Amino acid sequence: MEHDLNLDKHLLFTPGPVNVAETLRTAICKEDICHRETDFDDLLAGIEHKLLSLFQIRNRERYRAVVITGSGTAANEAILSSVVGNGAILILSNGEFGGRLHKTSLIHNKQTHLIEMPWGVPFDVAQIAAYLLANKIDVVAMVHHETCSGMLNPLAQIGALAKACGALFVVDGVSSVGAEVIDMEACNIAFVSSSSSKALGSYPGLSFVVGRKKQFKRLKRHAAKTTYLNLATFYAFLKTHSQTPNTPAVPLFFALDQALTDILHEGVLMRYARIKARADLLRNGMRRLNLDFEIDEADMCSVLTTVRVPASVSVHDLRARLREKSIIIYEGKGCFAGKVFQVGNIGELSDDDIRYFLSTLKDVLLTLQADTADLVIPVRPNQTPPAVLPVPVPAHVRVVS
Ligand SMILES: *Cc1c(COP(=O)(O)O)cnc(C)c1O
Repeated sequence: MEHDLNLDKHLLFTPGPVNVAETLRTAICKEDICHRETDFDDLLAGIEHKLLSLFQIRNRERYRAVVITGSGTAANEAILSSVVGNGAILILSNGEFGGRLHKTSLIHNKQTHLIEMPWGVPFDVAQIAAYLLANKIDVVAMVHHETCSGMLNPLAQIGALAKACGALFVVDGVSSVGAEVIDMEACNIAFVSSSSSKALGSYPGLSFVVGRKKQFKRLKRHAAKTTYLNLATFYAFLKTHSQTPNTPAVPLFFALDQALTDILHEGVLMRYARIKARADLLRNGMRRLNLDFEIDEADMCSVLTTVRVPASVSVHDLRARLREKSIIIYEGKGCFAGKVFQVGNIGELSDDDIRYFLSTLKDVLLTLQADTADLVIPVRPNQTPPAVLPVPVPAHVRVVS
C-alpha cells in the first residue's frame, strides 16, 4: 500500500475524533427533515433501539436511551446534575477524566466525595468497599476507560459494591463504548454516558445516556439544576414524542444512526475482537522498537496505548515529525506531559495503516535519537566523561574572528 507523503488526509491515531467511514460521510448529507415531525421521531427511535442492542441489553423494556446535542462532557454533566438531587455522590478518580467528573460534580452537588488515585494507578477495591460502609453514599461515579492513561477500571466489582450499599452506579463510558463490551445489567449500571466521536467512530457533536427506565422515571423528583442538560426533561420528550427537548443537530443523528447500523452489522463481539487485534499489532510492534508502556498491558483498554517517551527524545518533536508524515498522535497531558505519548487505534484505520505507523515511528525515533547523539562525544575507552559539544552557532549570528 502506498502512502503519499503529501496526502491531504491525516491518519488520526488518537482516541477520537477519528477517521470516519465513507458510509458516514454519505449519511450526514441526507435530505433535510424537521425535528418536530415523525421523520425525526423515527430516526431517534431507531438510534435508541440500536443503542440498546449495542449494550446487548436482554430486558430491553427496562432501559431507555436519550441523545444529547453536545460532546461527551455534556452527557457526563447531564448525569451528574440530574441523578444526585440533594444526596451524596462518591467520585472515583484515577486520572484526568475522573478529575473532570469531580469538578463537574462540585458545581452541582454539595455532598461530593472523592477517592483519588494517582494517574495510571488501579483502584484499591477494598478501600472503596470500606469507604462505602463508613459513609452514606447515594451515587457512585467512575470512568470506565480512563483515557489519560489507557486504563480500564473494574466495572463489575464497583457495580457490585454500589449494589451492596444501595447506591446507584453511574459510568463515564465516553472512550470505551463501541470498542469494549459492556454488560450494563450484570454490572448494575444505572446510567452510562458516551459520545459519537470516539470508539463509535462517528462525527463529534453528539453524546448519549443509556439508563434504567425506573431510574429515568424517578429523576423528576429532583429539582432541576440545569435547563439544557436535565435528563428528566430529555426523558419526558423521549417518552411522549421520541424527540429531544431542544433543536437537535439532525445531520449528526443521521451519521450516528449509520455508525450504529455498521457496528451492529459487524457484531459487537466481532468489532471488539477486531479493535483488540489491531491494538495487539500496534503494541507488539512498539515493543519490538524497545518502547515501554505506562501501565500493565492487562489493565489496558483496547482503544489506545500510552507509551513512555525514550530518554533522549522530545515528545513535541516526535509529534511534529510524525505529523509531517500525516500521522497524528497525542502528547501526554497533566502530570504525564513530556513523559508519554498516546497512540489510538480506533476509527477507519487498516492493518496497513498500523504497519505504516510502525515503520514511520521507527524512522522518526532513529532520526531524533541520532540528532541528540550528535551533541555528545561518545565515551572513550579511557573513561573520560562525555563532554557536550559547543552549541552550534545559529546561522543568523555572525562570528567575528
Ligand atoms: C473524551 C472524554 C471525555 C470528554 O468528551 P468530550 O467529547 O471531549 O466532551 C469524557 N470522558 C472520557 C473518558 C473521555 O475520554
